[in-house]
Amino acid sequence: MQTRDVVESACRIIRHRERQVHRRPRMGEPEALREVDARLLGEAMLSDEGQAVLTALCERCGGRFAGSADERRAGDLLLERLRAAGLSSVHPEPFRFLAWRRGRRPTLQVVSPVAATLECIALPYSPPTRKGGLELEAIDLGEGLPEDFARLRAQIKGKAVLASNESPGYYHRWVHRAEKYARAVAAGARAFIFMNRLDGLLEETGSVRFNLKGEIPGVGISKETGARLQRLLRQGPVRLRLATNDGFFAGRSRNIVGELPGTERPDEMVVVGGHYDGHDIAQAAGDNGSGVATVVEAARLLAPHRTLLKRTVRFVCFGAEEVGLLGGQAYVERHAAEMPKVRLMVNCDGVGSERGKGFDFQGWHEAKAPLGEMAREMHQDIVFASRPMPYSDHFHFMAAGVPTCLLGNVGGPPKGRGYGHTAADTLDKVTRADLREAAALLARSLIRFANDPRWALPHKTPAEVRSILDRYELIDVMRTEGTLPKALR
Ligand SMILES: [Zn+2]
Repeated sequence: MQTRDVVESACRIIRHRERQVHRRPRMGEPEALREVDARLLGEAMLSDEGQAVLTALCERCGGRFAGSADERRAGDLLLERLRAAGLSSVHPEPFRFLAWRRGRRPTLQVVSPVAATLECIALPYSPPTRKGGLELEAIDLGEGLPEDFARLRAQIKGKAVLASNESPGYYHRWVHRAEKYARAVAAGARAFIFMNRLDGLLEETGSVRFNLKGEIPGVGISKETGARLQRLLRQGPVRLRLATNDGFFAGRSRNIVGELPGTERPDEMVVVGGHYDGHDIAQAAGDNGSGVATVVEAARLLAPHRTLLKRTVRFVCFGAEEVGLLGGQAYVERHAAEMPKVRLMVNCDGVGSERGKGFDFQGWHEAKAPLGEMAREMHQDIVFASRPMPYSDHFHFMAAGVPTCLLGNVGGPPKGRGYGHTAADTLDKVTRADLREAAALLARSLIRFANDPRWALPHKTPAEVRSILDRYELIDVMRTEGTLPKALR
């Protein structure tokens, strides 16, 4: 054979292979995506791009607190990354909100029975105290469950409520900080002290209200400081002096949006997102540098295979989640007309630091069968869970009836935040292996979510969504917090 013939026949083989790789997969044919899967997995496992995005967010943009210059810089970085990944229509979608500015460190002193100064941090949306601060008695509400508030209700008025961030395993649902704060306010407390349950002199932060000025000052204290206060309280009345110095301003944030348009039904779509804002006291690496880096990396992995996507996959990096899911809310309001065409919303909020990743379908139990089939076809263990959690960006999609799920280490009893929301939520806590595994799982799943007829899950009516939330008392909880969306009232 002449050299030219050899080259030509080699080219023919390559073209044939390329056609095979890029041929439209026929769903239900288990091996249809095998070659694409191999490419996605190979690229995910060899690439450090996801880690590079996470590192840039954490080291160059700090905690990326909503409304800050750090958050703005992170948004610019993500615009650049999504464009570099090859997405179409990459653009920012700005929105306004009431932002909170951390002031000078608050002071918390024990006045009697002993004199002592306790370390603390202000919690977002905590208002400033009058000059000179407040002097008041403290009361220990333990874990701050609804039953604790009911039992001690008559004794709370005028006092500083001490409650831990514990949501104990025996309790039938997670009890969020904002609920504990709201119950303290409703019972007439004059201050809220939020105690961490993890060792290490770490205060846990988190908004006490969402996009709304808090009624009473709220501060976070470490487990060790809280334990000291509890020891004093067991001996008798304890008087405290508390002064906070924080403020509010008209803030701006942005969602960063880009997409891979579908080739057959571009108006139908899967929305995948994660919030890029975080808390100012940390690098916010796990919550949620890890989630947004996973989203950006999945976009980069999928872009070369865009011709495979029958429906559009839209990628959204949400701003201002930690102060009230404001990015998710702004997106759903702005794109309200598209919601009936969103077949699934996938949220990445903390991809987790243990093995056993999966999707939590938030009460869409209908997803169990297709997820099982998908896992079998992907030759991968994918955990299925289906329990609503209304404290992240998927929630406003869910409230609009859109099938939603969370990617991460899902299932099992609520575990709390670990290092999330503390100064120890740093880069070293997120492993390269976890990011790679999450991005590969997400990219491979997105092709199926966008193409496979089995992923046409039913949209739900407001009454159906309410009934899912009601199973876990979440309608009452959100009424208590003042966070129940209009659509569900
Ligand atoms: Zn988060």
